[in-house]
Amino acid sequence: MRAAYLTGHGGNEVVAVGERPLPVRRAGEVLVRLRAATANRVDLYMRDSGAGITHALPMIMGLDGAGVVEELDSDERGLHIGQRVVVHPGIACGRCEFCLRGDDVLCTSLKLLGEHRDGTFAEFVSLPARNVFPLPEAWDDVQAAALGVNHLTAWRMLFTQARLRSHETVLVFGIGGGVSLAALQLAKVAGAKVIVTSRDAGKLERAVQMGADGSVHSASQDIARTVLELTGGRGVDVVIENVGATVWSAALKSLVRGGRLVTCGATTGDQPGADLRRLFIRQLKVFGSTLGTLAEFRDLLALCERSPMRPVIDSRYPLGAVAQALDRLESGGQFGKIALSIE
Ligand SMILES: [Zn+2]
Repeated sequence: MRAAYLTGHGGNEVVAVGERPLPVRRAGEVLVRLRAATANRVDLYMRDSGAGITHALPMIMGLDGAGVVEELDSDERGLHIGQRVVVHPGIACGRCEFCLRGDDVLCTSLKLLGEHRDGTFAEFVSLPARNVFPLPEAWDDVQAAALGVNHLTAWRMLFTQARLRSHETVLVFGIGGGVSLAALQLAKVAGAKVIVTSRDAGKLERAVQMGADGSVHSASQDIARTVLELTGGRGVDVVIENVGATVWSAALKSLVRGGRLVTCGATTGDQPGADLRRLFIRQLKVFGSTLGTLAEFRDLLALCERSPMRPVIDSRYPLGAVAQALDRLESGGQFGKIALSIE
């Protein structure tokens, strides 16, 4: 089968597109014929380093994906051959303390597609049936594929970690990125107010068109001061953040007393000043978060089934143009997901 895979680490030279063996489906697994996947920041990390993530080369890239069921156990219930499906990229053991309490994303031996094992930039992937979900009927393959990492991550951040409520205000950093746009969309569906930041005025304009209630041009405006102005001096209830060191202080200063900050990334560095005095005096709460559980994915898909919301797709590339897709992601110029069509 055709696939995009890593032959080493460091730049697009190590990304090959060519033939790889068809995955062997084991009992309990579903073989999915993929039609679409999207690029995520972790794909760049795996391409360039992969340090700290146990994996073997060559490895097929890609975490999220959508396609159709090709082959499954004869007694598998709930799925059938030819059914359109979307995959959850986290394969958990099902037996550890965390799996048993339903927190499978904390599994001590969690294996992620495209990080620990062959991923979705391929014609086929085989994975446990519990990781394969029917996709929302009216959705195309690219839109569905886009849910599996970014929307799932944003869902857990907003609803499981921050426990966002409809009368609250959320500050979303770096609008244009996949998780940030997903957070804007999901927070609006939940009825909350959303303020967004970007260094790019054009991205802010697009976010306001999508329903953002306020925006901060971080290249020319002081973030915390502007957020306070926009909230009548109060501050926001929740911050959704994946930029890291350069905005950490502004993020904490933008929170109302007792506010919650959820972080899922540290693109600009992971060792900011902790500002401990502010943390305890104002009783702020800081949550780390990454991806989401199978149950959270099921809830997200149920919402998508009856919501007009659709993930924003920046651009679409054929699988053979994976290098251009990764370049586009690395440029930071995108607004929404960078998708791969797999024919
Ligand atoms: Zn486990």
